[in-house]
Amino acid sequence: MGGDPEDPHLVYANHDFGSQDKDAQFEEMVEYLDNNYISSGQELYRSEQDLFRQCLEWLAAGASIEVDDLISGTRDEQLTEAVGAWSSDPRIRFLELHALKHPSGGGLAPGLVRSKPWRCLGLAFKQGVAKDPLDMLCWHIITLYLDGRLTVRKCRYAKCQKFFDYRRNIRRVYCQDKCRARDQMKSREAMRLYMREYRRIKRTTNAKSQKRGESWLKKLQSMASRVHRDSPRN
Ligand SMILES: [Zn+2]
Repeated sequence: MGGDPEDPHLVYANHDFGSQDKDAQFEEMVEYLDNNYISSGQELYRSEQDLFRQCLEWLAAGASIEVDDLISGTRDEQLTEAVGAWSSDPRIRFLELHALKHPSGGGLAPGLVRSKPWRCLGLAFKQGVAKDPLDMLCWHIITLYLDGRLTVRKCRYAKCQKFFDYRRNIRRVYCQDKCRARDQMKSREAMRLYMREYRRIKRTTNAKSQKRGESWLKKLQSMASRVHRDSPRN
């Protein structure tokens, strides 16, 4: 597999199915998975990509599901209802189907095998025989997550939203410098528009009553804090 062999989940999540450009990494990944698992053709990759991206983002953000609104009754009933709601979440169902239900003959495996003297150390789950390539991809992201190695983040630039590995710089929130520059340009433009409007209204309110002006200024102040809050940190 081209580049970092640990990145098939990123290659799949970031592939642009609408683009005519050649994506060598994606093609290589598909070829590898088709040769090692039962091929399901391109359609499966295309139809499941959105849910896979949702799963990836959710796992990377700590795998939390809010179910408070659904709960009533005793504490035990609440617990049952919470877990029930959790297990019917589309992301859980998707990951469970592909990582565990599809493959047959899964089991336990040693975590590590050492030689001289031969010794098996630790314990790991072994996936069974996969039915389709997504079984392998879902298993891959689950095991990375369980090992604490799913170090991915979605690019903060709204027009990009590519996933990237932040291991080299934990503070990174953009996949590349170009995205940071474009996003910050957008923020600077928003600030410029805000300042222009602020000056215009201030001129008007100075001329009119102070009371009326205050309500306008309050609105602008809350708008300013919003612009500030939306501005990227990095
Ligand atoms: Zn980006």
